[in-house]
This record gives sequence, structure tokens and C-alpha cells, in this order.
Amino acid sequence: MSNNGVNNKIDVLIVGAGIAGATLAANLAKTGKNIVVIERDLSERDVIIGELLQPGGVQKLGEMGFTSFIDHIDAQPVYGYDILFEDRDYLIPYPNKNGEPCGFGFRNGAFLQNIRKHILTQRNIRVIEGTVTRLIEDGDTITGVSYKRKLAADEESLNAHLTVVTDGPLSKFREKLSKPANKINGYFLGLLLKNCKMPFPNHGHLVMGDHPPMVIYPVTSTSWRVLIDFKGEKPPRLGRDFRKFLMDEFEQAIPESARPAFIAAVEEGKFKTFPNHRLPASPIKKERAVLLGDALNMRHPLTGGGMTAAFNDVLRLSNNLKSVSDFSNIRQLGKAIQKFYETRHLGTQTTNILADGLYGVVYNPDLRKAFFEYVSRGDKYAEETCSLLAGLNKDKKLLLNHFIAMARYGAQLKINAEKPGVVVAESITMVKDAVGIITPLLLSEKPDPGNKLMLEALNRIV
Ligand SMILES: Cc1cc2nc3c(=O)[nH]c(=O)nc-3n(C[C@H](O)[C@H](O)[C@H](O)COP(=O)(O)OP(=O)(O)OC[C@H]3O[C@@H](n4cnc5c(N)ncnc54)[C@H](O)[C@@H]3O)c2cc1C
Repeated sequence: MSNNGVNNKIDVLIVGAGIAGATLAANLAKTGKNIVVIERDLSERDVIIGELLQPGGVQKLGEMGFTSFIDHIDAQPVYGYDILFEDRDYLIPYPNKNGEPCGFGFRNGAFLQNIRKHILTQRNIRVIEGTVTRLIEDGDTITGVSYKRKLAADEESLNAHLTVVTDGPLSKFREKLSKPANKINGYFLGLLLKNCKMPFPNHGHLVMGDHPPMVIYPVTSTSWRVLIDFKGEKPPRLGRDFRKFLMDEFEQAIPESARPAFIAAVEEGKFKTFPNHRLPASPIKKERAVLLGDALNMRHPLTGGGMTAAFNDVLRLSNNLKSVSDFSNIRQLGKAIQKFYETRHLGTQTTNILADGLYGVVYNPDLRKAFFEYVSRGDKYAEETCSLLAGLNKDKKLLLNHFIAMARYGAQLKINAEKPGVVVAESITMVKDAVGIITPLLLSEKPDPGNKLMLEALNRIV
């Protein structure tokens, strides 16, 4: 179908039925809007991304009425994290005193198919399997898209009152709607451990030491996902010596009960890699368009925060759009989008700062030890840190306080354990390093009145 004029019947056209796009379609459909979703591949994907949904993300799904998306896919409840550091470990449960949900591990493809199945049954959503090739622009307004249906040769076009671009981490269209400052800071290598036991069933495991960090969590009742970080702009070379390298570098760091499964996975050699980006959100306002999901904003996946951030955004954008009675009204629509861009950091900034902050910490030997010792104190040191990681607590000041307190605690331990004169300089460096990690992260989030005070406090520390 070709449509060169304004098709007044399409309220919202969504580019990409991934985690953000498909959930947005499902949520907006409840308001009766007429929605078209264009997705290049509707088959179940086999990926290593988006397999641990933090409790904060589950909470947002619940607020939208969509926790059933987690049903019937052998998803595993996740109750907290075991932090492994050298030969020690410390278990931190997610908060659950006030009825907070747990997290869930699952295969991302199965979860996404549940969301897609739902939108395919909605009468006011039309799903087209095809690849969007171009955003149609009229000056500063996006009026729709051109696309090619799967296996078709000809291009078609559709116009809509609102185009939502949510084409994921490798977005082709983000440069039209934002200043694309994405930086690859490494790659995750994914392996699947089958039929094994980890120290704590139904928990995530963060493994730190003199090797690159690993995260391990259950994704079905019989399998655990292992993600190993490879720093740098190039993916690891999966050549002949790679299996030996994996064994030499990581086998001993894997908990003993899971080592046979690790060895089997390495021997099987079904490796998958995916780039890890950092992309602070810097949208460019265009009429009738909005950028969402990883196309807009990315953080390191070490803390599994991407889907939680996406669901926060989906809910916020949908709520703002509820106030728009007529999507043909460009002013009303523009106001709702502007408000979304101006307020979305309230739902996502702690997730973003913590993800890249912790990534900095695990590569700094002193800070990584400090982090382990700090959370091992239990009490609020573990509980509040975990509530931030879970995406349940969004208090930026609390995050900053813990981050700096962690570095100070580590510095103090170092001074107590060794000759003060010798290590005092190193201890000061530790606190400076922590400030150096967190300051740019704080600056890249949208400023709010608290930011200035926090930056002043950080300056006083260094
Ligand atoms: C290695 C890694 C591990 C991660 N692990 C976790 C985790 O455990 N927990 C977590 O919460 N987050 C995790 N994330 C982040 C999470 O996966 C993302 O935040 C989330 O998937 C973003 O959703 P999205 O809808 O923006 O992108 P996607 O889910 O990737 O969806 C984009 C969709 O757009 C479609 N598309 C793209 N281009 C076009 C086009 N031109 N036309 C039509 N369709 C198109 C794609 O086919 C896809 O379906 C991880 C990320 C990485 C890199």
C-alpha cells in the first residue's frame, strides 16, 4: 500500500518491535489510538542481550498491567546478587520488605515474542514485517517513513501524526533525532551453561577479580547465561587460540560447581558477542517524532539496566501522550514530547550512572576491593546499594553518597592495614579516581537543581 498524503487514521507509527517499541505499542493501544508497528524480523531472536529484568523493570511492567509477558517462557525469579571477589563472596538480596517485586531471568527472544504476540492480537495495532529505509521529513517535521516489506522489491511509505523511532542499539536513524555520541567501550561475550548449579540458585552472580568481570544469571530452569566483558573498541578474536584463552583466564574464576558446564560450553564453542555502548541521551527536537529505547540512551549492560530504563521511558511517554486528545494537534503533541525529554532522567539517571560507575569500579583494583568490602558490611551498605541496582530506588543523591563513601571506606581500610605514610597517597588517589569516574556520568545526565550542589561537593573532595 502506498500512501503519499497524510493518513489521518494512523496516530502512532513505531519503527521497531523490540523491547521498547513493542511495549509502547501495547501500552498506547489501551488508549484506543490507531497504531502501526514496522519490524524487520518478527521471528524469535536468539540474542545475549536483555536477559535479566531488574525488579524496577518488573514494577514498571506491573504498572502497565503487563507482567503476563513474563509468563510461560520458563522465566526464573531472581532474588538478588551474589558478589564474588577473589575467593570470597557476599550475598545481597533485592529489597522485599514493602512488597517489591523480584527480578526475572529469561531468554530475551521468548520474552519479546510474548510482547509481540500480544500486540498482534490488538485490533487497533497493525504490525508490518518490513525494514524502514527512511524517515520522511518536511523541514523540521517527521511526517512518516518509507519501508520495504520483507521479500518485497518496492518501497512503500506511510504517514502518521507521530513517528516513534525505536530501532535499538545499532540504530540507523538516531542521528536524525539526536546528537549521536555513542561510544563502544567493549564487548560482551555470551556463553550458555547447561544443567549446572551455581552457589545461589535464582540469583545473579557478579564475578570480579584480576580478570575482566563476568555476570552470570539463570535464563531458564536448566541454563545460566554467562557474559564476559572484553574492553576495547574491537570484538574479541574468536580464533583458534580463543578457547584456550577462555580456559586459562576464566575457568578458575567460575564457581566450582559450574566449572564442568563452563568447560562444556567453551568446547561447544557457540560464542556470541555484542558491543556495549555508552550513549547519554541528547535528543534533537523535531515535530511529530520521538526517539526511544537504546536508540536514544544506552549504559553499560553490567548491571542489566537497559530494559528497566526502556520500561520507565515507555510508561512516561505513554502517560504524557494520554493528555493529547487530538494527535493531529502539533502543539499538544510537541508539548507532550518535550515534557518526556525534560523529565525522563528522573526515571533513568540512577540506572545509567550506576551502570557506568560500577563498570569503572570493577576495572580499578583498589576500588573493586573497596566495593566488595563496602557491600560486605551488610545493612544499608548492601541494601541501599542493591535497591539502586534493582532500579527500585531512584535517589541520585543516595547513589552519589554511597559511591564516595565506598571509596573513602576502601581508602581507610588501606591506611589501617598498611603503614600510613606509604599508602596515604594511594588512598587519596582512590577517592580521586572515584570522583573521576562519577563526575562525567553525573554531568551527562540532565541537570536538575541537585546536580550543582553535588558537583560542588565532589569538587571539595578533590
Ligand atoms: C550484551 C548486552 C547485554 C544486555 N543485557 C541486559 C540485561 O540483562 N538486562 C537489561 O535490562 N538490559 C540488557 N541489555 C540492554 C537491553 O538489551 C536494551 O536496553 C533493550 O533491548 C533496548 O530495547 P530497544 O527496543 O531499544 O532495542 P531492541 O530490543 O534491540 O529492539 C530494536 C528493534 O528494532 C528493529 N529494527 C531495527 N532497525 C529496523 C528497521 N530499519 N526497520 C524495522 N525494524 C528495525 C530490530 O529488529 C529490533 O526488533 C543488554 C545489552 C547488551 C548490549
